[in-house]
Amino acid sequence: MANYIAIDVGGTKIAIGAGNERGELNAVEFMATDPGWSQDEVLERIVRTADRMCQRLGLSTKDFSRVGLGTPGPLDGPVLLETSNLHGWKGLNWAEGLESRLKLPVSVENDATAAGVGEWCYGAGRGARDCIYVTVSTGIGAGIIANGMLYSGSRGNAGEFGHLVMDPDGVSCAAGHRGCLESLASGSAIGRNGRAQQQASEFLRKIARIEAKDVMNGYVAGDPICVNIIQAAADRLALGMSYLVNLFNPERIILGGGVGTHAPQSYRDRLMEGISRWALPALCETVRIVPAALGEDSGVIGALALAVTASS
Ligand SMILES: [Zn+2]
Repeated sequence: MANYIAIDVGGTKIAIGAGNERGELNAVEFMATDPGWSQDEVLERIVRTADRMCQRLGLSTKDFSRVGLGTPGPLDGPVLLETSNLHGWKGLNWAEGLESRLKLPVSVENDATAAGVGEWCYGAGRGARDCIYVTVSTGIGAGIIANGMLYSGSRGNAGEFGHLVMDPDGVSCAAGHRGCLESLASGSAIGRNGRAQQQASEFLRKIARIEAKDVMNGYVAGDPICVNIIQAAADRLALGMSYLVNLFNPERIILGGGVGTHAPQSYRDRLMEGISRWALPALCETVRIVPAALGEDSGVIGALALAVTASS
């Protein structure tokens, strides 16, 4: 069986794994991301960690067929463009930098696309020809599988779902727009709304530093303020998802990310109600919303799935 190296680059940590085409990881190593590293430094550190991992497995990089890498975007193919928290890495070419050092072909996609491919191959999207992975965590993003293939767009940036403008007069986002879906329905937005209404909520009043998960807990407990915040966020997300349903006619929407994965069934029901209200009936009949199945490994399994699908 062929072996692959999987690299999941995040703003706080980088995970490097070794796995096979069945989606099984044999090893994973983590390193904390330091945005102060130069571009050469980050590449060298990834290569050193990959070498160490291979040695532990009794292998060398020659025993691997390909590398898959998921990275925050935006991208220009394999090249990192300006990102909000990795400024010094602007212009970093992941494919060139790692191919020259590891002597292996490297497949690069943005992190939401990678996680979507992972769920499609090995998780909640298995067997689907058309499915869309939606991550709801600090931000909101999507990975699109259409016609049985991953859809990455001309430069690798398809699925910037969180930056759909829902309210042009709304709150500003980091990319400089107003009223993006992300500023209305993400974990950050839920936490911000919870903090703003803390005094009115019996549930939130006793919490020192409110985050999205606290508001979600209050929602599950039936606190009226938390219920309002979560339902309003779900309704905005459902409106956005109704556009995805009309555009792509997916059979499944896979809900991932810290907020999305752990949200209760009632939250997914609320999303489905909104989609049924706003998308065309014929398209609503076939779509289901399911929680992501890969949990905390979704990033590195997604990177593994990129390598596997690029090789098949
Ligand atoms: Zn935006």
